[in-house]
Amino acid sequence: MFLHHSDVLVIGGSSAGLSAAITAKRQHPNKSVTLLRKEKETLVSCGIPYVFGTISSLGEIVIPNSLLENNKIKLVVGEATKIDVENFMVEVDGHDQIGYDRLVIATGSRPAMLPVPGFDRSGVFTISKEMSVLLELKQKLRNSRDLVVIGGGFIGAEVADECRKAGVKRITIVEDQSHCLGQWFDDEFALNAEAILEKSGVAVKTGVSVTEMSGDAGVKEVILEGGDVVPADAVIMCVGSVANTDLAKKAGLALGPTGAISVNRYMRTANERIFACGDCAEKVSFFGGRPSAIKLASISCSEGRIAGANLFGVRRENIGTIGALGTTIGGTSFACAGLTEQAAIATGYDCVTGVAQGPNRHPACMPGMEMLKVKLVFEKRNGVILGSQFMGGSSVGEMVNMMSACIQKKMTIDDIAVFQIGTHPCLTSSPLTYQTVDAAEMALLNALSSKEKE
Ligand SMILES: Cc1cc2nc3c(=O)[nH]c(=O)nc-3n(C[C@H](O)[C@H](O)[C@H](O)COP(=O)(O)OP(=O)(O)OC[C@H]3O[C@@H](n4cnc5c(N)ncnc54)[C@H](O)[C@@H]3O)c2cc1C
Repeated sequence: MFLHHSDVLVIGGSSAGLSAAITAKRQHPNKSVTLLRKEKETLVSCGIPYVFGTISSLGEIVIPNSLLENNKIKLVVGEATKIDVENFMVEVDGHDQIGYDRLVIATGSRPAMLPVPGFDRSGVFTISKEMSVLLELKQKLRNSRDLVVIGGGFIGAEVADECRKAGVKRITIVEDQSHCLGQWFDDEFALNAEAILEKSGVAVKTGVSVTEMSGDAGVKEVILEGGDVVPADAVIMCVGSVANTDLAKKAGLALGPTGAISVNRYMRTANERIFACGDCAEKVSFFGGRPSAIKLASISCSEGRIAGANLFGVRRENIGTIGALGTTIGGTSFACAGLTEQAAIATGYDCVTGVAQGPNRHPACMPGMEMLKVKLVFEKRNGVILGSQFMGGSSVGEMVNMMSACIQKKMTIDDIAVFQIGTHPCLTSSPLTYQTVDAAEMALLNALSSKEKE
């Protein structure tokens, strides 16, 4: 059955799809916009780890449909089963059709699964974005004693921390890289995160991979490379995500080097009328333009805003992925934007760093004082900022956003050293020792002293 024609049809109702649809309506108010998503209710995916501890019910992380209604976007709940590129139609649930002038594919990603023996045993989960699977996992965790979280990225760390709060007795994170959060933070920050996890009772095993999940009907043990055995009545895999590209592939759209839908800087596919954005779309790094597999809600929203604006003519351009995020583990917040020192070196930069730490209030006796540590990474030859890492109180979540803007605008050590910052005893560290500024000054000193040695 032909349902209706929409000037703009967006497939996907999460970060990328919503921001593309809202932007399309804002920038092209006379165009009709329809959002097609397969689930009745979309969850705030970044909030998912918190439903295991801090947030009591999944209902509290549902994105309200009023966001669509307020923006005059038509919602259709159903699965896109085929894109008919010849006739500009999308097939819904195998039998209905919606026509389009412009199509945005924002079908997102699904959790990756480690293909080791036993991955399909009962009791082995991934962090799905589907309500029914999460409810099943929540139920399982209520009766679990021994939980193994595979993958110590920010999602694995958050899930472990939340399950600990919920009272799961023994939790072990197994990470095959040398440190948890190692993709995002240099060792000195990652080690702190690991120490916080361990102090709170979460065991951390790094530099070792999982070879099998054994048991009878359900999982009982996780076997590690080298033969160590970790008891487990539940396993949660947090080992990354895979772009949902089946629909695009069937429509003949090309995929890029990371397996996501190939797009240009305007988020347009090779088909003039079809755009893609978010986790399902291919990305390049802001730093040198290499393919990037980073998938974040903030990037999805940014790409959605680019796609939505460009549907009927170019208005915005994607500058590439910077990668800014924050997380909180055991009450300490960590945040980063851009490259770590280790990643900068691996990318081929000759870099210089500066570190500063101190209280985040002045004087330090002010209520709410927490210690704040900042590390900035700069390119040595021109002083341009490449990355920043923060550890401290919750304000680091916004401080890193400021640094992401600096990275985007390629600011230099001197630009940051003379920042005109706003400070207040109740809110920030002292203007005399403001850590971001101090870290830039320290980087300058380090650059000068390394020049003297040359
Ligand atoms: C547990 C967890 C925590 C996270 N925390 C953070 C965080 O703190 N910060 C951060 O920046 N990022 C975080 N992320 C990453 C972030 O959630 C993703 O990058 C983001 O959700 C991607 O948004 P998206 O719209 O591209 O895709 P998705 O969120 O995957 O949404 C895809 C949408 O497409 C729909 N869809 C798919 N196929 C079809 C079809 N055929 N027909 C109709 N509809 C379809 C889906 O139903 C869904 O609505 C987290 C991810 C997880 C899993």
